[in-house]
Amino acid sequence: MLTIDTTSAALRELRLRVKGAVHGPGDAGWDTARQAWNLMADQRPTAVVHAADAADVRAVVDLARAAGLQVAPQGTGHNAAPLGDLADTILLRTDAMRKVELDFERRIGRVEAGVQWLEVTAPASERGFAPLAGSSPDVGVVGYTLGGGMSWLGRQYGFAANNVTAIEAVTADGELRRLTADEGTDLFWAMRGGGGAFAVVTALEFRIFEVPELSAGALFYPIDRAPEVLRRWRDWMLEAPDAFTTSARLLHVPPMPELPEEVRGQSFVVIDGAALASREVVDAELRGLRELGPVMDGFEEVPPVALSRIHMDPEEPVPAEGDHAVVGEVDDTLIDGLVELAGTPGETALLMAELRQLGGAFGRAPEGAGARDRFEGDGLLFAVGMAMDEQMAVALRRDLAAFREMTLDLRTDHYLNFAEQPEDRVHRPEVWQRLAEIKADVDPDDVIRSNHPIR
Ligand SMILES: Cc1cc2nc3c(=O)[nH]c(=O)nc-3n(C[C@H](O)[C@H](O)[C@H](O)COP(=O)(O)OP(=O)(O)OC[C@H]3O[C@@H](n4cnc5c(N)ncnc54)[C@H](O)[C@@H]3O)c2cc1C
Repeated sequence: MLTIDTTSAALRELRLRVKGAVHGPGDAGWDTARQAWNLMADQRPTAVVHAADAADVRAVVDLARAAGLQVAPQGTGHNAAPLGDLADTILLRTDAMRKVELDFERRIGRVEAGVQWLEVTAPASERGFAPLAGSSPDVGVVGYTLGGGMSWLGRQYGFAANNVTAIEAVTADGELRRLTADEGTDLFWAMRGGGGAFAVVTALEFRIFEVPELSAGALFYPIDRAPEVLRRWRDWMLEAPDAFTTSARLLHVPPMPELPEEVRGQSFVVIDGAALASREVVDAELRGLRELGPVMDGFEEVPPVALSRIHMDPEEPVPAEGDHAVVGEVDDTLIDGLVELAGTPGETALLMAELRQLGGAFGRAPEGAGARDRFEGDGLLFAVGMAMDEQMAVALRRDLAAFREMTLDLRTDHYLNFAEQPEDRVHRPEVWQRLAEIKADVDPDDVIRSNHPIR
């Protein structure tokens, strides 16, 4: 077995063995190479490797194991904050692995590990198809799917993870495996919702869906109407058909020039989402919300690619810090608490406090489900702000602490993708137990490091 004692020896070996770019501390381009999408993460790994292909991934895993280092795979760094400083770790970036194949006959997509959602949603949409992508165009397909994957079509079709048909991944022993419902079944279960602690994914295959009827968009109301709008949405969403997947948000739009003028710098309560239904059904379902008189109504028939931008998620790196809670009930006390915490412009440091609609297929475990089988609860809360300077960081942490206190006794479940605190136990206890057994079996020396480790 090869033994590597020093960082410089590890870097030398990496440069010899991999085709992709290798960066060490102090090299030109080091700061760019180590930067995550979330600028709150200050990653200081032993080395950064931009893998060119699966063979590079194998070489990095073999070398890390021999050198007593860990490997942290990363697509974009959207959920990099909980990873820590990455001491004694090779940061394995997949951004050079960008091949996308869509087979419309079989209704299957295949992507390499570094592909971002818009690279799939745009070509799929041209043929009237949609994958189960999230709200942001530049989140990585792999990181999102390994954590579960809640899309705007999720109450109809379930989690993205449970629509994965094959995973190609390098395990800690350096083997490239193809995992399916019939091959490597424990690992296939764990990696569909259990996160990135088990192996480095080199490619994913998943179902894509034909979308003949689709409406999506947002209704904007003045923020001071939040209590009545949120109550009306809550009453509607608890009974809504599975074809509808929506969210309700208190939103303080930053005064950034790249944002549309009609929303820039203003505060709203916003209902947005999508419906796999005819225009008549959509109009009938949304009637009660429209009767409240939104100041902007952009909920309309759209091509599937529009789902990548209805939420107006930031597409450039930002210093974001957030927290989440899956809650059993969205009752009036919770609504009033949210409004008090995040509903007054100028007083709150939160840019957004959001309630995503659960139920439907999110609440039912499908046959053959992976580690994220369902959610126990009616709503998923997410609160987030931007720490642009020290003063904003202090105010934001104060508001996130208040959010945690408010939701502590209401939490019924956790969601890995929305978990940004390193200490979060992101799975239900029985799921955690099985994940820990599988991790101990496939990676007993903890070579593969993830943002939410399973120990
Ligand atoms: C603006 C925004 C909008 C979002 N919207 C949604 C949404 O609508 N629905 C939803 O479910 N989530 C959403 N998320 C959460 C998002 O899914 C997670 O942050 C996810 O982890 C991002 O994946 P990534 O690959 O882009 O990020 P990364 O930070 O690169 O990856 C996160 C983790 O995934 C694992 N990972 C990544 N690549 C690999 C690989 N090749 N092999 C093994 N492990 C790997 C690693 O453990 C890594 O630490 C959103 C996040 C943001 C910031």
